[in-house]
Order: sequence, then structure tokens, then C-alpha cells
Amino acid sequence: MDNAQRRHRATGVETGPLVFSQQPAPYDNLRHRLNAAYREDEAAAIDGLLEVATFDEAARRRIRRRARELVAHVRARRQQTGGIDAFMSEYDLSSQEGIVLMCMAEALLRIPDAETADKLIRDKISVANWEEHLGGSDSLFVNASTWGLLLTGRVVNLDRTWRDDVARGIGKLITRAGEPIIRQAMTQAMRIMGRQFVMGRTIDEALERARDSENRGYRHSYDMLGEAARTMADADGYMAAYEGAIARVGASTVEDDAFAKPSISVKLSALHPRYELAQADRVMAELAPRLLELSRLARQHGIALTVDAEEADRLDLSLDVFAWVAADESLKGWDGLGLAVQAYQKRAIRLIDWLAELAAEQGRRLPVRLVKGAYWDTEVKRTQEQGLDGYPVFTRKPSTDVSYIACATKLLGQPKVFYPQFATHNAQSLATILTLAEGRRDFEFQRLHGMGEALYEKIIGDETLGLSCRVYAPVGSHEHLLAYLVRRLLENGANTSFVNRIVDDDLPLDVMVVDPADQVRHAEPRAHPAIPLPQDLFGPERKNARGIDLADREVLMKLAQDMEAAAAKPRAFFRSGPNRSCGKGIAGCARGSAWRT
Ligand code: FAD
Repeated sequence: MDNAQRRHRATGVETGPLVFSQQPAPYDNLRHRLNAAYREDEAAAIDGLLEVATFDEAARRRIRRRARELVAHVRARRQQTGGIDAFMSEYDLSSQEGIVLMCMAEALLRIPDAETADKLIRDKISVANWEEHLGGSDSLFVNASTWGLLLTGRVVNLDRTWRDDVARGIGKLITRAGEPIIRQAMTQAMRIMGRQFVMGRTIDEALERARDSENRGYRHSYDMLGEAARTMADADGYMAAYEGAIARVGASTVEDDAFAKPSISVKLSALHPRYELAQADRVMAELAPRLLELSRLARQHGIALTVDAEEADRLDLSLDVFAWVAADESLKGWDGLGLAVQAYQKRAIRLIDWLAELAAEQGRRLPVRLVKGAYWDTEVKRTQEQGLDGYPVFTRKPSTDVSYIACATKLLGQPKVFYPQFATHNAQSLATILTLAEGRRDFEFQRLHGMGEALYEKIIGDETLGLSCRVYAPVGSHEHLLAYLVRRLLENGANTSFVNRIVDDDLPLDVMVVDPADQVRHAEPRAHPAIPLPQDLFGPERKNARGIDLADREVLMKLAQDMEAAAAKPRAFFRSGPNRSCGKGIAGCARGSAWRT
């Protein structure tokens, strides 16, 4: 019996001497170029973009003036609007309370029983000084959240002396009231925050709530809260939720303009529990048809559908799914199928080239939502853990900003194939796009529900500009909110984040409003020096273990070839067994001569 027969008997796969059940298909030219940039050298990647994101002095002046006006406006309005930025300023992640809050929120999501939740609260909450935050912000929202954290409705109703006493230390509260009360308080706080960040608990509630902002000129894209499906039952649940939402959103609109219509945002990870390259066959056979079904439904109900961008190692596969769906005859001529592109990925600009070609070939205009990317910490950490050659994302924040502007320029430069959608809460990025797209209306901005209100109200309210903004509107109950919320808070709590910096009144306008291309040009080295390449993570002491990037199809193809070649050679064998041959066990034998090829 030869190797192939043996494998067939063991696995049931009739593939001759192949090492994978199916060889990955080679890329076409643009996909190959896209993939070559996956973990490209950072200096090369950013230097290639600098020129596109550099403007003449007149344009720079206009951008600066606009950005300064926007920052000043947001700062002035902040006190009245409250919301996430005020919350972040009170509970920023450099404070002990901010960290405790996030840890707890994140952990409570996973703790199924009350007893363990109470133990966690006892352990964590007593180390923080919540009372210091009481009245610490002018925002009603923040104070309400603080009270929610401190007290349940029951305790709030108690007399003032007791309340002050309670406010003096959460430790005392635990002693007097016990952890169950804090647990309820946390739930209460999550409800308050839920109302802030979630459009509605159900799609009907969200549609009702959106009416007011529609009247103020906003469009909406509805997103079903929840993270990646873990089981097929989860995926079925999300599929049903998306189907229901598409029908309800479709029924709610009479809009004619294809790009002004409300839309739905879909996460591919919600539609299949094994949305990963190693399961590419299943993904194409089971997930892609689901996206096609949702797209057909969206078309039928007269609304648009955008595929959200997720982790970098899913991008390649998502493009296969997207291209397959887009090519379907039933969607021919439909301009409603859109994709989100993350500018923090080194591949972003090449992805836009690929999308342009796809759209041109199919004779359609693609709505492309340009974002910076929500998983930065995860991408860096995962790459380090896996010991891969380079990061898929830039490591300096201004590089992401430059990439964003370079991608925006490319999108705006091809109006036949793109309907650009610029999703940002950054006044500098916004002012740059306003300047790049001066006098044009064939694009839209996007913001998240509960964020960026003050930033956009001036632009959307200005009839001479005639610009549009779509609100990304999460829908779901507060139990499903936490992961989304934690992502938002972590991201915006980072001291590089614009939303975080804008609330710091000590930061002068000149520091807030800076051309990222200038920052990149002055950044030496181009990659962040505090974020070494994964190989150098442990310094000169030792090299990090090197991993194989199993999310890179070209690496997989090479691996398959090497394994083929190895399998074709005469097989290694163990001449006489580890114990009998040398008596040193496997390690000793391996060092010695018992292994032969
Ligand atoms: P900024 O403060 O200017 O930028 C913050 C961003 O910079 C971070 O999110 C990160 O991307 C990047 N960054 C931070 N530190 C560094 C560093 N050291 N090096 C390099 N880059 C760094 N995100 C998704 O991933 N997928 C989506 O589908 C998606 N949909 C969105 C839809 C809407 C309507 C909006 C508004 C956002 C969406 N996001 C999505 C989130 C988005 O990616 C950004 O995280 C968020 O909007 C912050 O970007 P900003 O321009 O508003 O803020």
C-alpha cells in the first residue's frame, strides 16, 4: 500500500499524494499584488502612499482651517451632548476605574452564574475609587453611568446621608449592600450605555428611533449586534435576524436614490461558525450562498447591503466570497452591494485597485465604506503570538491616517466604479476629505450611532454643502452590546485616538490639527520603535519562535509544494524503536543516529 492509498484509507480523501484536500487556486495578477502587501515592510508600504496623501500649500491651508473649526465646534458642543467622548474622558483607560470597568464589563459577559460574577466584583471593584468620578463630568450621561455603576435604583432612593456614605467608598457599599446589588448596578450601567450606543433593542424600535435623525438628513445602516457565530445554530439565528431586518428596513423606505437608501451591514463571521481559510471549501459552499441569499433579499426589498471588514486573516477569504456573490447573474446591474475597507491594513490601497477592476468588469458601482480598522491591538498581538514575519497593519497612527487619505483619493478619483463612504470621527480626516471632494456630492460620510454627532451636525445641516451622512446603527439587546461596546471604548480610549484627544482641553488646536503626512515624513524609523517585529519581540536575548502564516494562500501553496516534495522522497523511518536502539529515549535518539531518511 503506497502513501496515497494509506491516506485515502485514513481520511477518505481521494487526492493522490496531495497534502491538502484541495490545492489553493493561484491568484490573478491583482490579487497577487494585494497579497504581496499583506505583511509588507512598513517603510516601503507607507512611503508608497505618502505622495498620494500630500497636498499643495493652498489645500493644506484649507484643510487646516476646516479641521480647526470642526475641533473648536466639537469642543464647544461636547458639554451639551455628552456621550462616548465625555464618558471616555471620565473613565479613560489610563485610570484604574476605567480599566476595572472594562475588565468587568468584558468578564461579566462571559460569566454565566451570579455567584462567580459576585466573586469577580468583590475582587475587582474594591480596588477602584468610583466616588471620585461622581460629578466629575458635566455630562449627564457620564454622571448617570457613574450612578448606575455605584448604585441600583433602590439605593439611589435612599436618604442623602446614606447615599453620601455609600459614595465614599464602594468597599462600604459591598459590605452593606453586597455584590448582588453591584451586579445589578453594572447591568443598570450597561442599560444606560446600551441606550447610548444601540439604536434599538429590535429592528422596529431602531427604525422608529431613526425617524428623528432621518428628518435631520441622516441615512442609516442597521447592524445586528452580536459577535462571530460559534455554532451553526448561532449562524442560523443571525441569518434569520438579518432576513427579518432586511424585510423591515425595506418596508420602511420610499427612497428612490439607490445610494440614499437605508442599508444593512453584515458580518460574514456571523453567518458561519467556520469562517476561516482552512475551511475555504465549506465557506464557499455554505457561507457564500448565505450572503447571496441576503443580497438578493436586500435587492428585492430595495435596500443596500454592506459587508463589514473584520480581522485581517479573514480578508482574503472574504474577497472570494464577495467576488462570487457579486458575479451572480441575479445581482447584475445592482449597485447596492458594498464592502468595508480598513485603511490600517498595508494592503488597503491595493484592495481598492482590485475592487475597481471587479466593479469595472461587472459594470457596477460599488459602495465602499472606508474605515481605519477596529481591531488594531488584536492584529498586533496575534501577529506577535504567531511569530509571523511582519504585521498586516501599520504600527504608527499617522501612517493609518495617511493610508486613509490615499485610499480616499483613489476612491474619489474613480466615480464610475465607486460610491465612496467615509466612516470617521476624526476632524482632520474629515476636513481633508471635504477639501478633496470640494463641490462634489457623489459620496457620503458615515458615523457610529452615539458618536460623532457634534462633528457632523454642522456639515449635515449646511444646505449649501448638500452632503450626506449615514449612521451605523447597531440593533440588539444590551446583553449583546458588551463586545461591541468594549471594542469602541478600547479603541477610543487609546491616547492616539482622535475622540480621546478632542476631549482633552489642554491639547491646543495646533497639536490636534496636524497633517499626518508631515508626521510620517518626520517619523524615523517609519515603523513604531516600541513595536518590534515579532521575530525580535524578546530583544537580543533570543529570537521569537517563527510561525507559518496559515492565512496566506501563497504561503499555503508553498507549504503544499514542500510537503509534496517531502512526501515524494523515501520516507523517514525509525530503524529499531526509541528504547531498543539507543536506550536514550526519543530526545537522545533524535540527537543520535536512529533517524534515517
Ligand atoms: P482616529 O482616532 O483617527 O483613528 C483611530 C484608528 O487609528 C484606530 O481605530 C486604528 O484603526 C488606527 N490606529 C490606532 N493606533 C494605531 C497605531 N499605533 N498604528 C496604526 N494605526 C493605529 N471598523 C472595522 O474594522 N470594520 C468595519 O466594518 C467598521 N465599520 C465602521 C462603520 C462606521 C460607520 C464607523 C464610523 C466606523 C467603523 N469601524 C469599522 C471602526 C473604524 O475602523 C475605526 O476604528 C473608528 O472609526 C476610529 O477611526 P477614526 O477615524 O474615527 O478615529
